[in-house]
Amino acid sequence: MRIDFHCHLFQLINTRSSLEAGGTIFKEYGFYERMVNKFQKVQSIETTNIMEKTVFHVNNANIDKVVLLPVNMKENQEVKKWVEYAPEVFIPFYNAPEKANSSIDVKNKIKKAIVEEGYKGFKVMLTFREKKLNDQLIHPVLEAAQKYKLPIVMHCGYPPPGTRKNVLTYSNPISIDEFASSYPRSTLIITHMGYPFTDIAIALAAQYPNVYLDLSNLAYMMPVRLRELLIRAKEMIGVHKILFGSDGNSPEMIEIAVDYFNNVVFLRKEEIEKIMGLNAVKLLKL
Ligand SMILES: [Zn+2]
Repeated sequence: MRIDFHCHLFQLINTRSSLEAGGTIFKEYGFYERMVNKFQKVQSIETTNIMEKTVFHVNNANIDKVVLLPVNMKENQEVKKWVEYAPEVFIPFYNAPEKANSSIDVKNKIKKAIVEEGYKGFKVMLTFREKKLNDQLIHPVLEAAQKYKLPIVMHCGYPPPGTRKNVLTYSNPISIDEFASSYPRSTLIITHMGYPFTDIAIALAAQYPNVYLDLSNLAYMMPVRLRELLIRAKEMIGVHKILFGSDGNSPEMIEIAVDYFNNVVFLRKEEIEKIMGLNAVKLLKL
């Protein structure tokens, strides 16, 4: 089974032509030129239903299931619609309240989300809200993840190119060091292998059995570097805690990310299958 562990809700407006038109500020950037080139090779469909378009590309990429990560509380509701549309494909994660607000009973809200509404894990976006991952707001999430043995995908490392916020200031995964051993039954997933803090991310994964690494976005941004990072990570921690994720801004990019791993020759076939889904199957108890 193959699972994309890092996917956001797509918008219909993000297409190949919008990439080509809107991305002109990135003209001459290596990642941008490469993406435009790769996009031209992906066939898409004409539809006004973004969920239909997404499932089309998920199928083309031979991906069985997709973890949907909401980036704010409003998207929690939207995620539900996607799961209703294709329950066999989409796996809902939950974004807990990330602003200090005494009028919200956060613990209760989280409990309801997991027990009654069926969310299967968490997405933490604190680093986009000028907060480090060891902010006190994370504790209700950690407690719930510990209690229900759930994974938490934590935004670490760089934000998308052009982000107008100082996300990197808060995104060093070293903050996880403070609480990783206190919540051993929760699984803490460092996105983008923590890039540019990749050595710290690998060191944390070596120290703590419950710290995992996701590879999302790296196949687009730095394919050559990703090869080196995978070899280094495997050398130290093996591949059983490494998770594939696409993290594109349009469904076509799922195919582009998968294509990278279909062409990897520096790992064994069994190792690639673990990264592409078998590790995720265990975490999600599928
Ligand atoms: Zn993401």
